Amino acid sequence: MQFTDFSLDTRLLKTLDHMGIEKPTEIQEQAIPVGLSGKDLMASSKTGSGKTLAFLLPAMQRIISTRPLSKRDPRVLILLPTRELANQVYSQLRLLVANTQYKAVKILGGENFNDQAKSLERDPHFVVATPGRLADHLAQHHLHLNGLELLILDEADRMLDLGFVDQLKAINAAADHKRRQTLMFSATLDHNKINEIAAELLKDPMHVSI
Ligand code: AMP
Repeated sequence: MQFTDFSLDTRLLKTLDHMGIEKPTEIQEQAIPVGLSGKDLMASSKTGSGKTLAFLLPAMQRIISTRPLSKRDPRVLILLPTRELANQVYSQLRLLVANTQYKAVKILGGENFNDQAKSLERDPHFVVATPGRLADHLAQHHLHLNGLELLILDEADRMLDLGFVDQLKAINAAADHKRRQTLMFSATLDHNKINEIAAELLKDPMHVSI
């Protein structure tokens, strides 16, 4: 299988080419079509499997090919358990949005709160965040999620282990509308807590296990 087998914008295919990425990995083969279909996804796969592009490519495609529900609210929110993981995802996203009109910001715990509030005022299309800090900005009305089209939870099991369940529920409730798609990735799926949060956040999800 090739990346050209998916319905991806030629600009995305060009960027992959520049990144030296030629053939989809297994998780990409399975998850990209689900992401592009608009269906919810529950996927298990590990770091290093290429799962970041498995969700970033459908996210980019959606932004490029559809009209926003809201001009001001972020369209895509990506949540990760740690600053380190969030930085890794953000740097891959930066490569994809480079030379486009789309703006991405990261909102991580431990960084300056006021600077983050200012970056949210610039109405980014993508927000990459850790759940605690994002929930704080939500509570302060520094961002609204009424126009959120795609919610991505990466390493959801670790977010739960770190005690972020209430923040995930608050974020979900703030972005609760019919047209939202949700993609959830977790290292393990046989985890009661994962099944509970999946039942609350996902609608009739497709399952992919690598
Ligand atoms: P991830 O598992 O998403 O953290 O990705 C691990 C690394 O693999 C990153 O540096 C990606 O740029 C790279 N990568 C992702 N997809 C592919 C692919 N299809 N072919 C080669 N490298 C890839």
